[in-house]
Amino acid sequence: MIQKKYWDPEIETMSSDALRKLQLSRLQEVVSRAYEKSNLYRQRFDTAGVKPTDINRLDDIKKLPLLEDAEFRATPLQDRLTVPISQIPVICSSGGTTGIPSPLPRTQRDWENNCIARQARARWTAGFRPGDIAQERTNYECTGAANKLIGVQRLTLCAGRGFLDNQIRLAQLLGVTIIVDVPSFALRYLDRARELGIDIKQTKIRAIWPGSETWVESYKKRLEARYGVTFLPGFYGASDTGGIEANECEYYNGYHIFADHVLFEIIDPETGDVLEDGQEGELVVTTLTLEALPLIRWRAGDITSILPYEPCPCGRTLPKMARVRGRIAQSALVKGKRIFPIDVEEVIFTTPGLGEEYQIIVDTPGEQDRLKVKAEYAPEVTSLKGMKGQVEEALTQALGVPTEVELVPGRSLEHAFFKAQRIITTYPKS
Ligand SMILES: [Zn+2]
Repeated sequence: MIQKKYWDPEIETMSSDALRKLQLSRLQEVVSRAYEKSNLYRQRFDTAGVKPTDINRLDDIKKLPLLEDAEFRATPLQDRLTVPISQIPVICSSGGTTGIPSPLPRTQRDWENNCIARQARARWTAGFRPGDIAQERTNYECTGAANKLIGVQRLTLCAGRGFLDNQIRLAQLLGVTIIVDVPSFALRYLDRARELGIDIKQTKIRAIWPGSETWVESYKKRLEARYGVTFLPGFYGASDTGGIEANECEYYNGYHIFADHVLFEIIDPETGDVLEDGQEGELVVTTLTLEALPLIRWRAGDITSILPYEPCPCGRTLPKMARVRGRIAQSALVKGKRIFPIDVEEVIFTTPGLGEEYQIIVDTPGEQDRLKVKAEYAPEVTSLKGMKGQVEEALTQALGVPTEVELVPGRSLEHAFFKAQRIITTYPKS
């Protein structure tokens, strides 16, 4: 069977000039639409003294006010929408990772051109092909529809009533080839399969498609070596924006931004100033093609950078972003340095004798005087004292802040079910 290389060849290999033109016309369209039809945006733009006719270049986006997620969520739905709710055919919901889930009404075009099409592009780029059987714990209609477009079958959470052991057994009976899950859970899945006497290398499972959770290279290598499964190119996205916003290609060197659907900016989270390509800061997203509930300069809360442009050997021309380092809300400020779980993870995974689970303990409000980490040790470790000193030294060396480590027996920390909670706040909140 001859298979196409790109899912959306016209878009994925478009010249930078043509892409910028497309982005500008879509930006003008979404800003006009929001101003005319959404009370929230009209009020905000009026307060900032900016009209849709002021947007004549892509850079003019800076004239528009930044949108805090909390303000967006707190605004009544009818004031945010650009279409009466009675005319909405599909309602999705945000995952609720950062708070209470919120309803996401979609027009038919939103549903087909964003939710489904973006999933399909990402899956194809990751390496999903006809004949694959994907196992997913979520049962989203959009991912089901995207699989169907590609010719991939899937097994979802409703199979086996959600019990992991049943899921593993069903996967064997069916011949699942790809596990779609956050890396922390994928590891739990494979470890459990081994306990059940299954040799993953002898099964049809060939790959993991890592979900929206950051991980370190050493984690990936450990999983690949232990179970012979490949990490497919990953993706970045948020359901609020219509789903997937960027994904890696087969060269694993940055995430191609779906720049036909989203416009990315990176800001200094403290000042709101827009940063240059290559500088790390908070991601701000403008959706270019969502109709019902557009986001304009929405603060995503994720820390990343847009990579300085250079051609990718895969032939795609879409610009790239770095892998997300973490969320501001899921970080700890230690002696003036912001520490993300991924920074700690690299050390945990490269220190022999430590398990996979760890927690960063934040026991006082605000800035911490040292980084406090709880980590699991492997059964073969005999000298806990020596081990503790060694891990503290490694963390202090790597992160440049004083560190205190508490070692706990393997499996005593809570294992992640959806996304791993790495920052644990232990002080009472007033
Ligand atoms: Zn590429």
